[in-house]
Formats: sequence, C-alpha cells, structure tokens
Amino acid sequence: MKVKVDPDLCIACGACISLAPDVYDWDADGKAQAIEEDVPSDQEEDALDALESCPTEAISQV
Ligand code: SF4
Repeated sequence: MKVKVDPDLCIACGACISLAPDVYDWDADGKAQAIEEDVPSDQEEDALDALESCPTEAISQV
C-alpha cells in the first residue's frame, strides 16, 4: 500500500506520527509527510490507524 499526506489539509496535530512513527514524519515546513510512499507490509496496520485518526482527513491511500 501507499499513503500520502496533503500538506494543505494537515494541521500538524502529530497524531499520525505518534501512531505510526516509522511511516510518518515532519517535513521541512512542519507538516506531516510519508517517510516512504510505499509502506512496508509490517507497518500497514499502523499506517491505516493513523490515516483513520487524522482529524482533517489529510492522509490518503494512493
Ligand atoms: S494526523 Fe493528519 S493533521 Fe495530524 S499531523 Fe498527521 S496528517 Fe497532519
């Protein structure tokens, strides 16, 4: 699976990074980003938990 963060929707709450720190990290502008678009299979559950927890639905599966 692949995920991406829309920086225009991200409010930098940090939820995704707390839930899946191996999948999401801060970018240079202080918004969340996917560390790698291709999520390793053992990280998919955490990646999806974060996607569902994002308050602004900034994370999408691509
Ligand atoms: S959970 Fe959503 S709004 Fe919060 S930092 Fe992650 S992408 Fe941004």
